[in-house]
Amino acid sequence: MDCIFCKIASGDLPAFKVFEDERVLAFLDINPGTRGHTLIIPRFHSKDLFALTDADSAAIMAAAQKIAPVLIRETGADGLNLHQSNGEAAGQVIFHYHMHLLPRWHGDSLCSPWTPGTSDSNDLQQFAERISRCITD
Ligand code: 5GP
Ligand code: ZN
Repeated sequence: MDCIFCKIASGDLPAFKVFEDERVLAFLDINPGTRGHTLIIPRFHSKDLFALTDADSAAIMAAAQKIAPVLIRETGADGLNLHQSNGEAAGQVIFHYHMHLLPRWHGDSLCSPWTPGTSDSNDLQQFAERISRCITD
């Protein structure tokens, strides 16, 4: 499979690694949105959130909890965003699951991906009921 992140995971392509264990690998983003911008990927190819195994999902979040405080401490950041895209429409460019860790500073140049809209409480209620009925364990 011609996947850049699989090649990074196998060592066929270089990356500036910050963490690895048996399930995941974390390395610096080549075009960082902020200083310290880090990507966490599963070693096993999963194209997006929906393809990810429960074990890899847990390992990625555990790695994020391990790495994020170190990034904040070592960069002197004021906060940090987790960001993750699924599908072209959502801005996914590399189709190997990855979680972005973006250190943030007060007044930095990163923008929120949405502008707050308005809502109707009847619509919210109906929508919440419909979705919750569809979600199974
Ligand atoms: P997406 O838009 O798919 O969520 O994010 C893909 C990310 O992968 C981008 O932030 C991009 O800069 C990063 N990226 C793309 N190719 C490479 C690469 O070869 N090495 C590294 N370290 N990052 C990459
Ligand atoms: Zn891959």
